Amino acid sequence: MTTAIDRSAALALDSADPLANFRSEFLITDESVCYLDGNSLGRLPRQTVQAINATLDVWADEGVLGWAHWVNSAQRVGDLLGEVALGAAAGQTLVCDTTSVNLYQLCGAAITARPGRRTIITDAANFPTDRYILQGLAEQHGMRLVVIDNESDAQQGELITAQQLAPYLNDDVALVTLQVVQYRAGARHDVRAITDLVRKHGALMVWDAAHAVGSVELDLDDTGVDLAVGCTYKYLNSGPGAPAWMYVNHRVQAEVQVPIRGWFAQREQFQMGANFDRADGIRGFQVASPSLLGTTSVESSLQMLKRAGMPAVAAKAVAGTEMMISLFDTWLAPLGMTLLTPRDASKRGGHITLGHPDALAISTALRTKHSVITDYRVPDSIRVAMSPLATSYAEVWDGFQRIRECLLTQTYLDGDLQAGTVT
Ligand SMILES: *Cc1c(COP(=O)(O)O)cnc(C)c1O
Repeated sequence: MTTAIDRSAALALDSADPLANFRSEFLITDESVCYLDGNSLGRLPRQTVQAINATLDVWADEGVLGWAHWVNSAQRVGDLLGEVALGAAAGQTLVCDTTSVNLYQLCGAAITARPGRRTIITDAANFPTDRYILQGLAEQHGMRLVVIDNESDAQQGELITAQQLAPYLNDDVALVTLQVVQYRAGARHDVRAITDLVRKHGALMVWDAAHAVGSVELDLDDTGVDLAVGCTYKYLNSGPGAPAWMYVNHRVQAEVQVPIRGWFAQREQFQMGANFDRADGIRGFQVASPSLLGTTSVESSLQMLKRAGMPAVAAKAVAGTEMMISLFDTWLAPLGMTLLTPRDASKRGGHITLGHPDALAISTALRTKHSVITDYRVPDSIRVAMSPLATSYAEVWDGFQRIRECLLTQTYLDGDLQAGTVT
């Protein structure tokens, strides 16, 4: 057993942290709570309250005339997102709809761009919405869905390497889709190696970066990504149900077309012509009116991230998860917890996952008795995150100390497991 870093060391990390001041830009109403769930829903930036109020004022003042400056919001905020968080040059990103809808759109587009190929590949540990959407698409197109089993070996941390994927690929594969960072175990895939391999076989790769964006540096242009989707309410702090994003690399924009052909993708939108005539560029992928309150919120939190800079944010996610793993080793492993996330920082994102047979009871007790917000994932794990702009090192330290306390005093044994319907 190694000795744990003490609280003064955590405070020293906060004093040396170039991002420390960003925490005060969030509206934190109860300082006694350790909020370690920014991977599920980020905290509220103060600036967003003002930004939304300002948009409401424009609506009140200008009414329908406001559309003159709202109409291109999905592209404008998409370009900002691309620049700040995706490593994407302008003209390839839209902020719109939900991750689920965007995934359906891009996977559907990939399938029709590879006629004659009848196989779709994903993994068993993929996020539920992704698996369900692929099941539906396979049925709709009469295709075979191959699901790689990466759940049975906990040591693997759900990670899929290019070498593991290779035997599944052949010239019948139209589409491969995986998460950049696994939502449950937190393992991070090698985007470049996997994308290269899939493209070598003539298939298209769709990345779901929902659990990666805002916690790790994404270089979508440089790593050769064709298609990607993700959300904005996790590490990007844009609020519950804020619009998601889709990325379509310039290289494939003419080649792929999304199944829902809406009027915002029409070349001369306000000519209201009889037939669909798709606009060039990323606009040809937009379905409908941008959600203005949503895009306002995304723009506001991205402005904060721009000031912080993604490299500093990613570095803090590494340092924060490193500290979590060291506290896990000294405090939690001896009490029966396991680590389900890779120890190599380049193979994980901003959260780590702790395994325990009583994970549900522990996660519930942490919320109700110890003021630590984590989340439980079926069947037996708890996720804890460092959301770099909103979380301090001391908050992580305190949270882990309380998890240890919870295990030592077994406060979870007499808890009420029906505490909530959303985990
Ligand atoms: C959070 C998450 C989603 C969420 O989808 P919504 O459409 O926003 O509800 C989808 N995929 C992954 C991988 C996620 O982590």
